[in-house]
Amino acid sequence: AKDKGRNCAHCYTAEMGVQIEEQADLEKGLHQALLRKELELHYQPKVSLKSGQVYGVEALIRWRRPGIGLIPPDSFIPLAEETGLIIPIGEWVLRNACAQVKAWHIAGYKDLTIAVNVSALQFRQQNIPELVRNVLADSKLEPKYLELELTESVLMQDPETIALAMRELKEIGVRLSLDDFGTGYSSLSYLKQFPIDVVKIDQSFIRDVTSSINGASLTKSIISMAESLHMTTVAEGVETEEQLGFLNINRCDAIQGYYFSRPLPLNEMVKLLAEKTHL
Ligand code: C2E
Ligand code: CA
Ligand code: CA
Ligand code: CA
Repeated sequence: AKDKGRNCAHCYTAEMGVQIEEQADLEKGLHQALLRKELELHYQPKVSLKSGQVYGVEALIRWRRPGIGLIPPDSFIPLAEETGLIIPIGEWVLRNACAQVKAWHIAGYKDLTIAVNVSALQFRQQNIPELVRNVLADSKLEPKYLELELTESVLMQDPETIALAMRELKEIGVRLSLDDFGTGYSSLSYLKQFPIDVVKIDQSFIRDVTSSINGASLTKSIISMAESLHMTTVAEGVETEEQLGFLNINRCDAIQGYYFSRPLPLNEMVKLLAEKTHL
């Protein structure tokens, strides 16, 4: 029994060593990723249910790591937040996204909006309104075409300071949306103290709308509550015709998800804009 215990302890340590090594390697790689231009944005269309038209896209970051492949954000954004690298990375995302949508406007897709995810640490460590003002000026993008997606956890960090920054962003003229709504603990009535334009209903609710009465009624109540607070609604993670039907009947404003399109690299997004701009 003693031997067995020692063996297990040994295995555990070795495994931990590998993990620490991997972590260090990832961190070093991420430091260099920006300079070496290994980061890229993919774009996922958002479709209005009223018009059936693509009205905007969300920018989603990926890391094309040499010798390894395309790394999804969930595998490196947490590390970027721990190390503070999210600050330069977040700024890169914002600049790139604004420049791209401006290029699309010039190419004739006049009213396309761009949504950018902003993490809590960016709000805490940076003057986000000032950054946004600078980036909009540099890219010559009209503020109303930029939407910032914030999660509830951002709002909970320091509600007064965040609310102030959000009001400043509203004065600039950008749109603010609440990402992953329903996964946290706050009610929409609590959240009405923040100037939120759009509520994005988390995909965990959408997954359930056609399979459970609970999922359906929760989603319905989010939509009607948002409506009464003059916020628009976007359903995330829409994958099926049935889900689309449900959202149509219950007057959700827009959808995003694999049903219409996965997030696409730039060249494929350009193709989609030319060929498939409605449901
Ligand atoms: P999110 O903002 O909630 O983005 C939606 C995620 O759902 C994306 O994952 C997207 O690919 C995925 N998705 C879209 N439609 C469907 C669908 O129909 N079914 C399913 N199963 N999934 C769908 P992705 O691109 O891996 O991004 C994951 C998260 O990483 C994002 O969640 C966001 O929180 C974060 N993220 C992405 N880009 C950035 C960024 O530039 N900055 C920051 N701070 N976070 C980012
Ligand atoms: Ca988002
Ligand atoms: Ca989301
Ligand atoms: Ca999410």
